[in-house]
Formats: sequence, C-alpha cells, structure tokens
Amino acid sequence: MITEQLQTIAEEKGLFYPVDFGSSGSSQIGGNIATNAGGIKVIRYGMTRNWVLGLTVVTGSGEVLHINNGMMKNATGYALQHLFIGSEGTLGVITEAHMKLERQPQNLQVLVLGVPDFDTVMPVMREFRAQIDLTAFEFFDANAMQKVVDCGHVSAPFVTKAPFYVLLEFESPHEETLNQAMQVFEVCMEKGWVVDGVLSQSLEQLKNLWRLREDITESLSDYTTNKNDISVLISHVPAFINDIEQFFAQHYASFETCWFGHIGDGNLHLNVVKPHDMPIPEFYELCQHINPKIFELVAKYGGSISAEHGVGLTKKPYLTYSRSHAEVEYMRGIKQLFDPNGIMNPGKIFDMA
Ligand SMILES: Cc1cc2nc3c(=O)[nH]c(=O)nc-3n(C[C@H](O)[C@H](O)[C@H](O)COP(=O)(O)OP(=O)(O)OC[C@H]3O[C@@H](n4cnc5c(N)ncnc54)[C@H](O)[C@@H]3O)c2cc1C
Repeated sequence: MITEQLQTIAEEKGLFYPVDFGSSGSSQIGGNIATNAGGIKVIRYGMTRNWVLGLTVVTGSGEVLHINNGMMKNATGYALQHLFIGSEGTLGVITEAHMKLERQPQNLQVLVLGVPDFDTVMPVMREFRAQIDLTAFEFFDANAMQKVVDCGHVSAPFVTKAPFYVLLEFESPHEETLNQAMQVFEVCMEKGWVVDGVLSQSLEQLKNLWRLREDITESLSDYTTNKNDISVLISHVPAFINDIEQFFAQHYASFETCWFGHIGDGNLHLNVVKPHDMPIPEFYELCQHINPKIFELVAKYGGSISAEHGVGLTKKPYLTYSRSHAEVEYMRGIKQLFDPNGIMNPGKIFDMA
C-alpha cells in the first residue's frame, strides 16, 4: 500500500495517518516500516515506529510470524516487531501491518518566518513550543529556498531576505490559539530573532508555503549533490552546524551548502552542491574525503550518520561512526537468527563476515 493511500483511507473515515513526507505518493507502508521513516510531523507524532501495532513477517528461514496482533499493550517478552521496523528488509519481508490512526488535526495553520542567523532558530522554536503545540517545525536556508523558487512553481514567502527560514505548523481549533501564535511572533520580532513572517490565509496558501520546504529535494535533482541525512541532539545543533560551515569555509570554500530539514527533531539534511566548473568525477572523488570529515563531526556530538533514510550500501562503511562495534556484533547475531542463509537483502547495513 502506497503511503498516501493509507492517508486517504484514514481521511475518508474521519481519521488521520500522520507520517508524511515528500515521497508519500510513491513510497509504500512496507518500505516506510522497513526504514522507520520519519518526515515532517515527527515533532508531534513521532516516527513510523509509533504507528505500528503489529506485523506479519516472513523470516529468512521461511517462517511466518504474526507479531503483536494489533495490541496496544503486550508485556510478554521481547517486542519483536521493533526489530523489523528499521531493519531495511535484512531480517525478513513484512507482508501485513496493523497501523494505528489518530484523530484529524483541526484547522491547521502554517507560519513561515525569516531568521537572521542560525543561532536564533532554536530560541524561536523554544518560544513557540512553550506556548503552542506544534505539528511541524522545519527549517531551510536561503540557498535551499532559492532552488525551489527558481523552479517557478512558488514564490518567496515575503520580500525581506533572510539567510534562514523556519516553517511552523499548528492546529488552531480556536481563535485564541491564533492570537497566541501572533503574540509569540511579536515577541520574536521584538527580540530580533525574526526579520519577517507570513501566516497562511487559505488552504491554498498553506499548501504553497509547505512547497517551499517539501519541494527542496526535487529542486536539487537538477544539480549534482552530495547528500547527508544526519541528526544530533537538539541542544547540539547550533554548534554542529557551525563546525560544518567552518570546515567547508576552510577547505571547500567554492562548494555551496544547502541546509534544510526537520530541525525540531535535530535532523538536518545537508546537501553539498557541485561547483559549476568542476567535473562530476572530481566532485564525487572529493566527497569521498568530505563525508568521513562530516561523520567525524557527527560522532563528536554523539549523533547519527543516518537519521531517517537508513544505511543501505552508501552509509554502510560509516556505520561505526554512530554505532559501537559491540552493537554491530549484536545486530549480526540478530540477522543470523532470523536469516541464517543470508538471503534477506544481503550486504545492506553491515557485512556478515
Ligand atoms: C522527495 C523525498 C522526500 C523524502 N522525505 C523523507 C522524510 O522526510 N523522512 C523520511 O524518513 N524519509 C523521507 N524520504 C525517504 C522515504 O522514507 C523512503 O522513500 C520510504 O520510507 C521508503 O519506502 P519505499 O516504499 O520507497 O521503500 P524502498 O525504497 O522500496 O525500500 C526501502 C527499504 O525497505 C525495504 N523494504 C521495502 N519493503 C519492504 C517490506 N515489505 N518488507 C521488508 N523490507 C522492505 C527495502 O528492501 C529497502 O531496504 C524521502 C524520499 C524522497 C524521494
């Protein structure tokens, strides 16, 4: 089942499936579970893992396991469904899933704010979160937004230029919440944390404001990029970004960095764009040296080299920047148990030898 189909079916029944991202129209629930997909609403609703109440899986040895039977509570030993969530198909094939649904959000509003520097992104988030229950808190830099605007489908949110932008979404069932949001906005303006902002006035405007964030990945496909999906604790985000920017300024000043992501979860998508005049093979060769440096900084802050896109083949060599050798050894043991013949997506995440 395509992710969007589940969202639509839930909606038709007056309910809501909250896991959502740019590829919802093509990705499948099985793939979402196998990668523990996150997306744009994690700050409020959590990752795919939170919405799985039970699984049917076929293990590598051909056994069919019916796990957890859709129950909310089941304290009878290890919760095996969680081993399959995020396992990238390396333990077995997920053939059925019991998914939990939620009530529909009411009267969603989107606010896009321009912020003068990265250090003010987190204070803005804290100020809003202290007052309002956010359903999303996303960010993108001016480079990333320009790529979307250049595609010609949507325009910049306001005339004032800002180096960074944040997009907040919240439910506004009563006028009161909207007033509260406006008050926080004014406080942020007074403190100099925000240079300008726009609040959605219609469903169409809400969708267009979301496109500024959601279309970034697609707009970058016109360029040659080196992509990373990394996360650190929210409290480390400003220092981490600063370290990365310093690294590029010192060693690769001609490279353009595009930052965007689910900043409310400490999850950053860093896309490094190939300079115009550099041949593609040379760019990829340099990226072979750049990636370990990025992951060293991720490790310095105890972060993750893959926040929500999995490991697969490309991140496999770097797994130990985020997981200890002992952890990888336990993972090998688990794979051996469920997939003794090594036939389930072999060679992904880690090698068995
Ligand atoms: C534009 C865009 C935006 C995105 N934004 C986000 C985002 O914000 N957050 C996020 O988390 N992800 C994001 N993604 C990635 C997205 O999570 C994945 O595309 C999706 O979750 C994977 O599902 P899929 O059906 O495409 O799986 P595939 O890509 O087909 O497979 C992914 C993995 O799951 C395994 N697998 C697939 N089906 C099963 C099954 N039934 N049983 C066992 N294993 C299986 C495969 O072997 C593979 O290892 C984005 C992708 C794009 C293209």
